[in-house]
Amino acid sequence: MRYRINKKTGDSVSEIGIGSAYLYEAGMKEGVRALETAVEGGVNYFDLAAGDGAAFPIWGAALAPVRNKVLFQIHFGADYSKGEYGWSLQQEDVKRSIDWQLTQLKTDYIDYGFIHCQDELSDWQTYRENGVYDYILNLQKQGVVKHIGLSSHTPKVIQKIMDDAPVDMLMFSVNPAYDYGEGEYAYGNVDERTAVYRRCEAEGVGITVMKPFSGGQLLDEKQSPFGKALSPCQCIQYALDKPGVLTVLPGVSNTEEVRELLRFYDTTEAQRDYSVIGSFAPPQAAGKCVYCNHCKPCPMGIDVGLVNKYYDLAKAGDPLALEHYKTLEKNAADCVACGHCDSRCPFGVRQSGRMAEIRAFMDTL
Ligand code: SF4
Ligand code: SF4
Repeated sequence: MRYRINKKTGDSVSEIGIGSAYLYEAGMKEGVRALETAVEGGVNYFDLAAGDGAAFPIWGAALAPVRNKVLFQIHFGADYSKGEYGWSLQQEDVKRSIDWQLTQLKTDYIDYGFIHCQDELSDWQTYRENGVYDYILNLQKQGVVKHIGLSSHTPKVIQKIMDDAPVDMLMFSVNPAYDYGEGEYAYGNVDERTAVYRRCEAEGVGITVMKPFSGGQLLDEKQSPFGKALSPCQCIQYALDKPGVLTVLPGVSNTEEVRELLRFYDTTEAQRDYSVIGSFAPPQAAGKCVYCNHCKPCPMGIDVGLVNKYYDLAKAGDPLALEHYKTLEKNAADCVACGHCDSRCPFGVRQSGRMAEIRAFMDTL
């Protein structure tokens, strides 16, 4: 397992986490085994927006013994009073649900308390008017909530809430289908979604990724907007390459699916290469580097994806991007404009020219 640091909180977060949408289907015995397998494999980050309340006793049984080694993100607005998942913006419902969840999880604190599922600007207004946000802040003052998170599928709502409220973590739906305008939660255009990634990286707000497989759509050739199925490891790599992303949280329904996720680190670069999506990039995305490194190898040894990522972040105002850029062994100044990457890039990036642009920009900082 590899870990990434949340710059806001200092938490070390496993790149692969676990979502809770389906695990309740496994039942207690198999569900506990699956979660124990995840922890043994180094997973330390768990999302608790479960598809059904039956998930919580499973999580409690499996993870209470290792509670101090794992991080929970718990959602203020997920309501299980009817058994299955429900959504509420009413303070009394939220309070009742949080008390119930903590009891089931056998814990008395929440690592990341999430402002839950804000997809419309009016949700945020209601959330505050109903006192739900103040309730989270009060719990934070009492030490029950350690850090505050936000979950949303909508870039413009994310921007507004990040303007209004200091958040330490964002849960966002990240996959190539949504980024290219395909699928149920493909909210915001390419530029709006990119702006969210860059803002999070620049402000040190970690992103936890929901729906990395677009609800399974991307894994099925018949449903995939790219005309062929992507593998889980391609989707995970895609999400991990986005600025700001700390962890990907696929939902699992049994132990074998956990083992499959953990095999991510045994896959080859070629197996994780997701550049096939380049042939389906919408006009708005064409010519923009997605940091996939499909153009490797550069004869000068330049990590083309990373150089581009730091450049984009520096332009977006990330104060650390130049520092990171300077630590690279080879950077844009080493480019000899050989054009190899131009011919390899499925996204139509004219990288040889862009390297000159990057060099000039970084020299001005
Ligand atoms: S130039 Fe193209 S192939 Fe190379 S990292 Fe960027 S998007 Fe990927
Ligand atoms: S054009 Fe520059 S960055 Fe691209 S492969 Fe050649 S030397 Fe490397």
